Amino acid sequence: MHSSDSEQDRLWREQLSAEQYQVTRCSATEAPFSGKYWNHHEAGAYRCVCCGAPLFDSRAKFDSGSGWPSFTEPAPRARVAEHLDRSHGMLRTEVRCASCEAHLGHVFPDGPGPTGLRYCINSAALDFEPAPDSSASDR
Ligand code: FE
Repeated sequence: MHSSDSEQDRLWREQLSAEQYQVTRCSATEAPFSGKYWNHHEAGAYRCVCCGAPLFDSRAKFDSGSGWPSFTEPAPRARVAEHLDRSHGMLRTEVRCASCEAHLGHVFPDGPGPTGLRYCINSAALDFEPAPDSSASDR
């Protein structure tokens, strides 16, 4: 951490839970099947837990069996950034929020159609917002 980042880092620590901070600002990975969204099926939007930017939509969510929320693609107009990640002896593509650089997870080329991609995202990096009409969907 650069010293010039320390004030922003202090604000992130105030705003986020310990797990949210470890995942988004330190690139940690939550334990599989432990997060609040891996088995979550409501219609709505998943926003960045740090800055609120819309990142993923429930329409692209699928059950990957991995224990992490998984999506075939980012939400329309979502700003996500992808970076080569050589950590832990693996070659992976890391996914970050392009607005605040929060670590979100990784994207793998083993997803279902139509994209063939699996955005494997930490629940702790996301904040779910139900669709406006979701409570009326059973009319
Ligand atoms: Fe963000």
